[in-house]
Amino acid sequence: MLVVHSPASLLHDPSGYFRRGQTVEHPEQARRYSILRDAVAEAGHRLGEPRDHGLAPITAVHDAGYLDLLSTVWSRRAELPGIGEEILTGHFARPQMARRPEGLLGQLGYHMADTSTPVRARTWEAIYSSAQVALEGAACLLERRGVYALCRPPGHHAYADSAGGFCFLNNTAIAAQSLRSAMGGRVAILDIDVHHGNGTQGIFWSRPDVLTVSIHADPSNYFPFYAGYADETGGGEGRGFNRNLVLPEGSGDAPWLGAIRDAMGQIDGYGPAALVVALGFDASEHDPIGAFRVTTDGFSRAAEIVAGFRGPVLLVQEGGYLCEALPKNLVAFLAAFEGARR
Ligand SMILES: [Zn+2]
Repeated sequence: MLVVHSPASLLHDPSGYFRRGQTVEHPEQARRYSILRDAVAEAGHRLGEPRDHGLAPITAVHDAGYLDLLSTVWSRRAELPGIGEEILTGHFARPQMARRPEGLLGQLGYHMADTSTPVRARTWEAIYSSAQVALEGAACLLERRGVYALCRPPGHHAYADSAGGFCFLNNTAIAAQSLRSAMGGRVAILDIDVHHGNGTQGIFWSRPDVLTVSIHADPSNYFPFYAGYADETGGGEGRGFNRNLVLPEGSGDAPWLGAIRDAMGQIDGYGPAALVVALGFDASEHDPIGAFRVTTDGFSRAAEIVAGFRGPVLLVQEGGYLCEALPKNLVAFLAAFEGARR
């Protein structure tokens, strides 16, 4: 299987993360990239680095002011005397106070949902490259039945104009929009990360040409808390084209696979030209911040169900955090996917 990846993923390696009142090691570490890349290389997959597809396909999904901020944060650091190696704010806009200010600290809080997305000296290069990995995957998918895009940092919590949940640019949405443009037909997104794909839902909320389906832990007491409920089905012309399949914390293989079958039934009925899978592995029973109990065999079964899709499938890496099971689950997923596609 073709694996698209970029060593530029290593250029953003956040240190601390403010979690439940304490600063802990950041779960979304650069090492995730090396571990996943080494695992697929060892499993015999063909690795390739992306071409530069430019900023236009990113602008097709993201707000211009937001992209301008992300790409200039580090060069504006003189606005924050005494700032260290990470630029971050602790002040956030709310619906009732939502003016976009001039200064850097305020703009960061306008375009960020939480404190998980610090900007470092080369963060922009890393997130731009991660989006290029998704775009290269989409481009290669035009001549293939399946491609795995090893995107890192991940993307599905990023909205058109905001970062959050370790995500800056929504790689899955950027790839889906690119496929939509290149193929003409509708596109479906299936998100099987344990967290709701809230950014992806937000980006395609009003659109009937991209179906978004997310399977995730109940947000009533789990990130992202403020979106991801079953009654969120899309708005305007997009009404009926967003679906949230919510499972209780602690769910194992059987309910999770049942939800994936249910989702694939809906996706097949929609008749998309291509499917993009937001492939998180944090539904694993061993994931340090996960909420489900999915086994490695469960990931293999999930891959077989997804592989039943009649059109091309782009797999985009989302979450999944450092534990022994992480690379095993990826290798198992890709093997089962390829086996079922033969
Ligand atoms: Zn996740």
